[in-house]
Amino acid sequence: MNKEEQKKIYIVATPIGNLEDISHRAIRILSEVDVVLCEDTRVTGKLLKHYKISSKLESYHAHSHKNKEQKILDNIESGVVYALVSDAGTPTISDPGVKLIHEIYKKFGNNVDVVSIPGPTALITALSSSGFMGNQFTFYGFLPHKKGRNKIFTEIFESNRIGVFYESPHRIMKTLQFIHENYHDSGKKICVARELTKMYEEKVIGDISTVFSYFKNNEGKVMGEFVVIIDKP
Ligand code: SAM
Repeated sequence: MNKEEQKKIYIVATPIGNLEDISHRAIRILSEVDVVLCEDTRVTGKLLKHYKISSKLESYHAHSHKNKEQKILDNIESGVVYALVSDAGTPTISDPGVKLIHEIYKKFGNNVDVVSIPGPTALITALSSSGFMGNQFTFYGFLPHKKGRNKIFTEIFESNRIGVFYESPHRIMKTLQFIHENYHDSGKKICVARELTKMYEEKVIGDISTVFSYFKNNEGKVMGEFVVIIDKP
């Protein structure tokens, strides 16, 4: 890349399912950078192949060694331009890449350009199609599995804001059951969005009992990727 653009890293949003959901700018940047840093080279490899992008791919994920991080920092210092992507959506949003960006700022302060190329993110895709009104929401990412979990639910259900969180297919029924047992009479609405932008995309919106019963009675729908939204009162 242009030498004047040195000490730079791009954060590039990629599709959350449908491969068409990527910007022209994202494709150009991914083609131009020296190295694309990704969570899983097989996942990102498919995307690059689809768009005939031949940039070098390297993995950077939750278990990447400190040495790997240091090497990336050294390379940035000597002018290597990276693009950071994740398996899906906007890197750093509930994704391991956030640690790398934190370290980059720690080392270079404002002497580095961290340029985010906007695109899909599951929370906004879900929220924008929920029909829940109001400009204020709180995003909780993935909820803790044990410690602090109940406290967050108390916060969500006492809040005047919309609450959004991510959930895995293994835990979604447990979570919906908990919400049903503890908050079915809260009067709040819930939206469970799954497989957004994909073939089996579905949004189930309604009172807590209705949404819980729907998934309880449709085991085949308890799969894929989930975003849960709790409406404000
Ligand atoms: N960085 C991503 C983003 O911008 O949304 C989020 C990454 S996080 C590791 C993965 C979680 O995002 C999934 O477990 C699921 O809760 C949510 N997610 C990602 N893609 C989704 C989709 N197509 N439909 C519903 N939820 C999705």
